[in-house]
Amino acid sequence: MIDFKEIDKSGEEWELFCRDFLNHLGYYIESSVDRGPDGGKDLIVSEQLKGNLGNYRFKWLVSCKHFANRASSNSVKEVDEPNILERIESFNCDGFIGFYSTLASSGLNTRITQLKENKKIKDVRIFDYKLIENYLIRIGYSDLLMRYFPESYKQVKPLHLVTDEYIPLNCKTCGKDILQEMFKDQYHANFVQIFNYDEKNEHIKDVYWSCKGECDNIRNNNLPKGYYTNWYNIGDLIIPTKYIEWILGTMNKIESGKNIYDKSALARQKEFIIAISQKVMREMTQEEIDRIGKLVVFDY
Ligand SMILES: [Zn+2]
Repeated sequence: MIDFKEIDKSGEEWELFCRDFLNHLGYYIESSVDRGPDGGKDLIVSEQLKGNLGNYRFKWLVSCKHFANRASSNSVKEVDEPNILERIESFNCDGFIGFYSTLASSGLNTRITQLKENKKIKDVRIFDYKLIENYLIRIGYSDLLMRYFPESYKQVKPLHLVTDEYIPLNCKTCGKDILQEMFKDQYHANFVQIFNYDEKNEHIKDVYWSCKGECDNIRNNNLPKGYYTNWYNIGDLIIPTKYIEWILGTMNKIESGKNIYDKSALARQKEFIIAISQKVMREMTQEEIDRIGKLVVFDY
């Protein structure tokens, strides 16, 4: 999903990305230090731990390795991480973080786990490409994604907050968040309106959203007699042109009287529009957020 090759192979940009990423996660960046032969830098970061005996500043040595551009066998191996213990001790660190654009080899994993099990170091964390990717597609990370992986950003179509907190779009049957599932399959869910009609007008009684197939049990076989459905592929509705066309179309049908909504159905449709807008909209700048104020609540 994210192409780590977008970061050039020199390693310097990867170190910058690592610094910004860990900072975003809440680590405090202490310094960067030379690593020796390969000319790379390790980072020293810290976090404040709260314990029974008061607060403790836990220091991590972070090893940044960017092997994604290597043609083959690009995992980080034991020989790529020499003297882990010595490096940690020489900078008075407590733990070790491996920050890799590929994976840690099983040999390296074993070595690191042993250091922890033998209580040589207090803790270890490995951020490999999969874990970093999991973070980057989450809400709140899109600015990092846009800055360091501009091409992947276009592919991923990350979610953007439009209020102070994320609004999930849960499938009415299985409860899964349709917006999150869309990272795997953009076209897996429908938005459905249930209506009946007289000679001229559709009376929209209810709306819902669900995964296609089994989850969409109403449309499949439970529709009461005399009721019909309009359905829309949510994957289409999040395409910016479609999104605005559909909203304008909805307004036109309300204005002309062709569509008459039950109050609760219209409120639910507005709720839906707000939720999917998180997939359509762009990231706001801090200036814009300050301008509109923090606590936006939509009134619908
Ligand atoms: Zn479902």
